[in-house]
Amino acid sequence: MSNTEQQNSAGEDIIFSAEDTLWMTYALQLAAKGEAIGEVPVGAVIVQDDKIIGEGFNQPISSHDPTAHAEIIALRQAAAQVKNYRLVGSTIYVTLEPCTMCVGALVHARIARLVFGTTETKAGAVVSKSQLLDNDYFNHRVDYSGGLMAQQCQHQLSNFFAMRREQKRKEKLAPLK
Ligand SMILES: [Zn+2]
Repeated sequence: MSNTEQQNSAGEDIIFSAEDTLWMTYALQLAAKGEAIGEVPVGAVIVQDDKIIGEGFNQPISSHDPTAHAEIIALRQAAAQVKNYRLVGSTIYVTLEPCTMCVGALVHARIARLVFGTTETKAGAVVSKSQLLDNDYFNHRVDYSGGLMAQQCQHQLSNFFAMRREQKRKEKLAPLK
């Protein structure tokens, strides 16, 4: 397996480990579970001491819950698992750059490291639209790096949206009953 060179929060080149790739692959599989039930495919997994303590996929529509992003589901599961609302020393892997809500939750949970796949150019709150984790008003610092398996993560999302557009087009063309 070849390591991928990316840039970290300081703009330095860093190399993701084989473990990082393994966990992100798993996050992609979780995202696919969301896709299977018609949700935008985003997956997240939280790892502490080389063990999964929480996982989730995006499911706000099916669970009627605006906060049911992959990261939040994974954080809730992890905190319940370790019986602590603080997930000290944990890494979260998520296929898409987190939104403002999820970045806030990662700070509250004291997540040590965030690794994300592709960027969310419209509303990403880490590097794209805002850079919340670079602010110094938080009392906890989350190390972050993005771009791990970015192509795969991006493909999964664009395939989903392309399929949804095609579905809507077919619905429009369908003869009235
Ligand atoms: Zn979110």
